[in-house]
Amino acid sequence: MTDSSGRVLVVDDNELIRRLATALLAKKNYEIATATNGMSALSRAAGFDPDVILLDVMMPEMDGFECCRRLKAHAATRDIPVVMVSSNTDAIDKIKGLETGAADYIVKPFDYGELLARVATQVKMKRLLDELEKKNELLQEMVKKDSLTNLYNHRYFHERLSDEFSLCRGRQEALSCLVCDIDHFKNINDTFGHQAGDTILQSLASVFRELLRRDDVAGRYGGEEFAFILPRTGTDEAAVQAEQIRCQVEKTHFNFSGTAVNVTVSVGGACYPAVHAQTSSELIRLADNALYAAKQRGRNTVVIAP
Ligand code: GH3
Ligand code: MG
Ligand code: MG
Repeated sequence: MTDSSGRVLVVDDNELIRRLATALLAKKNYEIATATNGMSALSRAAGFDPDVILLDVMMPEMDGFECCRRLKAHAATRDIPVVMVSSNTDAIDKIKGLETGAADYIVKPFDYGELLARVATQVKMKRLLDELEKKNELLQEMVKKDSLTNLYNHRYFHERLSDEFSLCRGRQEALSCLVCDIDHFKNINDTFGHQAGDTILQSLASVFRELLRRDDVAGRYGGEEFAFILPRTGTDEAAVQAEQIRCQVEKTHFNFSGTAVNVTVSVGGACYPAVHAQTSSELIRLADNALYAAKQRGRNTVVIAP
């Protein structure tokens, strides 16, 4: 089968027009679906997901204007370009069509070449817009992430913590924040090189991803520092999670040029409302203090703020 030129939904109550448009478009390798009235056009548009809709204006019950308005009102069909088809050459109607969100207008009886050209233009536009939207989504995701570990970056982590804090506070739910720092990481870099250090950071990120529950959020908070948001999690549960993180890191083994290496982490935690934090920044500061205490106690340790 040859590649499809695109999908077109032809909506017209007149069978002759439907057949004519279908024949013309099929010859140019378009995939076609048809609908005979506005209501079935709406459901076909959602199911067939066309690249363009040829929409007759004059139809009984629901006319093309109303149909177009409804297509534009629904998220699933909003972005499908609509080409209005009408025998009414009145300028006011053209404007009305465009005002309801139509992309273009064709007057019946239409010139075959013109119909094909207008459809092709809309398909091309639709594909470019779809591509742009996909790239945009990717970009939006990329600006939140740290490129080495693919965990959330510092900026997004703060934003997210602030949101989660407000949410949990409003709902009077618990919220825990953990901060985790690799012990003596400088030694690793000095002994095995920066590349080895990077490998460890990446592997630990995977360890964290495995450990965390669905609603937990992990971020790379700084160079060799990670942080976690644990929504709806109280002190005891947070302590268990932190201990699992500490333990799992300790159990992870690396090998650099024949030498077995493993690292440990120190973890600090603070749990709202057990600690009286008024803001997310205060909460993370308390977790950071706990981390400092864990380092003081000799590292490879968990401390949860009192
Ligand atoms: P401590 O137990 O007190 O945390 O000791 P430490 O050596 O881990 O702490 P310090 O702050 O002295 O050193 C942190 C090291 O982390 C130094 C820095 O080169 C390294 N580091 C930070 N970011 C990266 C990174 O992206 N890649 C690599 N390979 N190393 C990093
Ligand atoms: Mg009609
Ligand atoms: Mg460190």
